[in-house]
Amino acid sequence: MMNRRRLLQAAASAPALAAIPQALRAAPLGEAMRRVRPGDPDWPAPALWAQLARAVGGRLTKLSGPMDACRAAPTTSACSEFFTALKNPYFLGDTVELTQTLGWVDAWTSMPSAYAVSAQTTADVVAAVNFAREQRLRLVVKGGGHSYQGTSNAADSLLIWTRAMNAITLHDAFVPVGCEQRAAPTRAVSVGAGALWAHVYDAVTTKAGGYVQGGGCMTVGVAGLVHSGGFGSFSKAYGLACASLLEAQVVTADGSVRIANACTNPELFWGLKGGGGGSLGVVTRLTLRVHPLPENFGAVNMTIKASSDAAYRRLIALIVAFYERSLMNPHWGEQIRFRPGNTLKISMVFQGLTRSEAQAVWQPFLDALGNAPQEFELEFSPLKFVSTSAREFWSPTLLKRALGFIRRDDRPGASPGNVFWPGDQGQAGQVLHGYQSAWLPAALLRDEQRDALVSALFAASRHWGVSLHVNKGLAGAPPEAIAAARDTAINPAALEAFALVICGAEGPPAYPGVAGREPDGTTARTHARAIGRAMDELRKLVPNPGSYVSESNYFEPDWQRSFWGSNYPRLFAVKQQVDPNGLFFVHHGVGSERWSDDGFSLRA
Ligand SMILES: Cc1cc2nc3c(=O)[nH]c(=O)nc-3n(C[C@H](O)[C@H](O)[C@H](O)COP(=O)(O)OP(=O)(O)OC[C@H]3O[C@@H](n4cnc5c(N)ncnc54)[C@H](O)[C@@H]3O)c2cc1C
Repeated sequence: MMNRRRLLQAAASAPALAAIPQALRAAPLGEAMRRVRPGDPDWPAPALWAQLARAVGGRLTKLSGPMDACRAAPTTSACSEFFTALKNPYFLGDTVELTQTLGWVDAWTSMPSAYAVSAQTTADVVAAVNFAREQRLRLVVKGGGHSYQGTSNAADSLLIWTRAMNAITLHDAFVPVGCEQRAAPTRAVSVGAGALWAHVYDAVTTKAGGYVQGGGCMTVGVAGLVHSGGFGSFSKAYGLACASLLEAQVVTADGSVRIANACTNPELFWGLKGGGGGSLGVVTRLTLRVHPLPENFGAVNMTIKASSDAAYRRLIALIVAFYERSLMNPHWGEQIRFRPGNTLKISMVFQGLTRSEAQAVWQPFLDALGNAPQEFELEFSPLKFVSTSAREFWSPTLLKRALGFIRRDDRPGASPGNVFWPGDQGQAGQVLHGYQSAWLPAALLRDEQRDALVSALFAASRHWGVSLHVNKGLAGAPPEAIAAARDTAINPAALEAFALVICGAEGPPAYPGVAGREPDGTTARTHARAIGRAMDELRKLVPNPGSYVSESNYFEPDWQRSFWGSNYPRLFAVKQQVDPNGLFFVHHGVGSERWSDDGFSLRA
């Protein structure tokens, strides 16, 4: 693991941050070494909270536990209804005390902050940041609330909740501030930090016929995803979401409002692109490039069952070779899943191909299966290749709803634009049992290594299901998408990977202390061990893989290297420049090695 001295040396040699004030750079840690909690003598007095409330137009709320009522009366119908509502991602997103994942056994449990500022303006954010710094509070930032690592909640903290900052504005000819002489005007969209991707897709694609690179899951927050790097179903064509970032407005730890783009505060801008959420400041607005929209998007889903272990191994060899030959290109994205029980599940999407072109691509693979009917049983879904005009992809048409392809927020009066993919609903309100990921280099697909990869995938599937998210590795993407990703903080391993392999397990909504609805620790630990064994099979091939910061193990060892690789020293330098006192802390975020696990005190 990188030690602090090496980091500081590397940070000192990183590119200069000319626009960051000298006073902030040199600020000593001093009083910031221990943050205060409710009950501490230094906890702000009511009059000070009232002052903050006035500064934010009354949008300050004292929070209580969202599960308190259920804890007190777990068998009531009100409690049952509450737990049913936890399966609605929009209910979770609209509730200040909740997060999409309710916890991770042995890692974290979703806890409400002491107070929340429901920010509506940048000035609200500035007031909250200044208050947290001056009063030495633990500060958290929440947008869409989808952090698997629990980084947008913390007990005894002040929360800045950006959900209401969700304006979306399209531009025909955007030029970042200060770039007037260097950048050609481009089509773009400016998005408030609390916007969700579903609403951005509606504005940019359905209504305006453009394409913006966001996430696969429609209820993820825009700011959180961009900070992560951000992969969507079609990232093999359009690259990382953060690589399309043209400009951000950020409130930094000193309370100043900064513009960050390639020409103004370029190092901060670079750090925001993949450097991880909640560590460098509070982004209040992001402007993203709008790309031309292809004609069609489509999908193909199939499940194939092999008749024996030997047949399954042959099936894995077939799909891996077929992927390398025919799918590792900008047209294809999403997942190939290797399940125990000798079952292969394929859920792929395509762009820039007609339905019949997509079908033709798969014909050799389907022929190979057809030639061995005694080995492979193919279960087609009723519509095996579906295609739609790209403009309709994210729109909740009646047909798509009737066929169950898309779901809507079912709360009375909910906006019709509150939609989500049914496949993501399983994760609403989940409690994680385990989760690990690794970028698999495309070199593993070469003739001389492919057999070892097939064996490792087979061996992994003996322990737990593993899924290749092929859109989350950029090998096969256009050179310009890879070049743009190289100019971000993400681990460069992502650029050479053909897929991010993910292995996870979760249980239904559960919460400690709610009788009958407690997380099942025994099962969770059994699952976590199986996940570890499955991933160990792949780590035999790639001993120190990179891992995607947002979709990774809470207990990731050597996380600085895993998440950011050779970019970590430069990212640490950015952190030192904009937040030397560590006001912004998240679990396994840049600079967090200096703090206790809960972010309340500096390590000795
Ligand atoms: C169901 C589900 C599906 C997912 N699908 C994808 C996917 O398809 N592709 C992908 O790349 N990732 C995916 N992810 C991971 C997701 O992109 C990250 O967890 C992302 O950080 C979530 O952002 P958020 O705003 O929703 O979450 P939050 O929990 O609100 O925020 C995540 C982090 O970003 C910080 N943050 C949020 N807003 C701001 C802000 N304005 N300024 C500074 N920091 C901020 C928070 O402090 C926190 O540390 C998925 C996650 C889930 C739960």
